[in-house]
Amino acid sequence: MKRLLLVEDEPGLVLTLTDRLAREGYAVESSADGESGLERAAKEPFDLVLLDVMLPRLNGFDVLRDLRRRGIETPVIMLTARGQVTDKVVGLKLGADDYVTKPFEMMELLARIEAKLRRAPATPHPAEGYQFGDMRVDFRRADVMKNGEPVEVSAREFQLLKYFIEHRGATLTREELLNEVWGYNAMPSTRTVDVHVAWLRQKIEPNVRHPQFILTVHGLGYKFAG
Ligand code: CA
Repeated sequence: MKRLLLVEDEPGLVLTLTDRLAREGYAVESSADGESGLERAAKEPFDLVLLDVMLPRLNGFDVLRDLRRRGIETPVIMLTARGQVTDKVVGLKLGADDYVTKPFEMMELLARIEAKLRRAPATPHPAEGYQFGDMRVDFRRADVMKNGEPVEVSAREFQLLKYFIEHRGATLTREELLNEVWGYNAMPSTRTVDVHVAWLRQKIEPNVRHPQFILTVHGLGYKFAG
């Protein structure tokens, strides 16, 4: 079930949207102000965020800017007020994936949500492989291909990548990665995790300076978004 976060302060709209989206088969959570919306979107795995612009405490633009600054690439659809063209431009510049103008038709919103979610890759079959971007990971043969060309990864890098893929969308702490990928008897240095993540990024990220697959969750750890 896809998880949506609705950040909206208008109770009537929250009720209507939550009810309708639930009937479409989505799990919907909501936040009534920008600050709590930002915290939830940053810390919990959502497949998509519906973000109002005019919000108490922190407006939608600030929420979006902060999310992207923290490296969180969850698709965001902005809910903008009618006629505020600048809202759309600012929102898209800040990294919104789409916007819907209020008052909107429910069918239009549903279509846009579906379109965004369709682009996200399907859940991997753990026994076989996984594909993201130009990368293809074969779990059985333990190899990684980029555009059909083999990529050299160490056994540890492969295990790390596999763990990321299997826990796609979840924030993984350095401690968890160290315990799960290196084992409990490993040298207790979370720095080891950072070093391997950096190596892995060199091999799988199109732009290492702006990672799009292995995201840094500041103060927490990492999240795989491929
Ligand atoms: Ca509002």
